[in-house]
Amino acid sequence: PETITIQELANRMSERGVDVIKLLMKQGQMHKITDVIDADTAQLIAEELGHTVRRVAESDVEEGLFDTPDVDDNLISRPPVVTIMGHVDHGKTSLLDAIRKTNVVSGEAGGITQHIGAYQVTSPLGGKITFIDTPGHAAFTAMRARGAKVTDIVVLVVAADDGVMPQTVEAITHAQAAGVPLIIAINKIDKPDANPQRVRTELLQHSIVVESMGGETLEFEVSAKTGDGLETLLEGLQLQAEILDLKANPERSAEGTVIEAKLDRGRGPVATVLVQRGTLRTGDIVVAGAEWGRVRALINDLGAAVKEAAPSVPVEILGFNGTPEAGDRVAVVESEARAREVTEYRTRQKRERQAARMGSAGRTLVDMMR
Ligand code: GDP
Ligand code: MG
Repeated sequence: PETITIQELANRMSERGVDVIKLLMKQGQMHKITDVIDADTAQLIAEELGHTVRRVAESDVEEGLFDTPDVDDNLISRPPVVTIMGHVDHGKTSLLDAIRKTNVVSGEAGGITQHIGAYQVTSPLGGKITFIDTPGHAAFTAMRARGAKVTDIVVLVVAADDGVMPQTVEAITHAQAAGVPLIIAINKIDKPDANPQRVRTELLQHSIVVESMGGETLEFEVSAKTGDGLETLLEGLQLQAEILDLKANPERSAEGTVIEAKLDRGRGPVATVLVQRGTLRTGDIVVAGAEWGRVRALINDLGAAVKEAAPSVPVEILGFNGTPEAGDRVAVVESEARAREVTEYRTRQKRERQAARMGSAGRTLVDMMR
């Protein structure tokens, strides 16, 4: 059923949330700003406030662009995509760096590993694991809001000398809302005042029962500083991934999500994309958000040019005509004409949404129910 939150409805009309709530009250409905109302009620309210309502269903233009299902016979397992979350200063960045370092094979040791916002490592059990370096919960939330599900597993970092803190709880909430399994990394166990047992007990208060306490959530004691426990953590991630039985079909056109994007002075628009289905190849025509381009080059997390990227592989795409946004979904289309059709439609949508937000453009309410 079509629904919208009161906040979002107010935003799209450039009205104040309280005014919407007041109108609903007049009709005998008591609501909070975060409540969800149905499309018909929303339309009534919008018209009451003098807006023109156009209800837009999922656009024909975008038909078949995303979420085209993988056919069963070509499914092979794909690496898990892992995001590290946790309270500030508990060691997310250090852990990502340490994991990456343990995995840089000697030949590359002197080389410059370039930072593209995501990387892949090999677990001691031989399987590959993809890590996404989200700048924080905000990015994770933004991606989710855009309907981009990128993460298979969340590693929740909790510092053993600090315990469960507000952003730890926030991360638990995010992961649970997204339906993503958690693995606990109790970090900083090298510190003299580390108290991992306290972390386990505190997690209990948030309904997380770790394995050593008879529960199902895998937990690992680690130190990003000394490297202790990291290999075991990687093994645990691979085991969790095997339980999740992650599969994808590499023999189809690619779909993915933009992890990071920037305008590079020398290289033009550069987008780090996580391939989620199919195989992305140089020469492919891609759309992402309101931008499109022909893939001129693909650069992997080691800075090497590659010809293709399989499911769960992060790569930089060069060749976009403009810079897409983090969280934008990426799809390969069959022709430039199709790419133009999709991106022109999206550009128009974006403009109209902005206009609606500014309260101009004849107070047109566009795409209200999307
Ligand atoms: P983030 O905010 O979660 O990304 O945390 P950082 O990775 O920036 O780490 C915060 C601080 O904790 C830094 O000073 C790190 O050097 C330190 N730190 C991170 N991991 C460890 C660890 O395992 N042991 C010790 N002793 N210090 C750590
Ligand atoms: Mg950090």
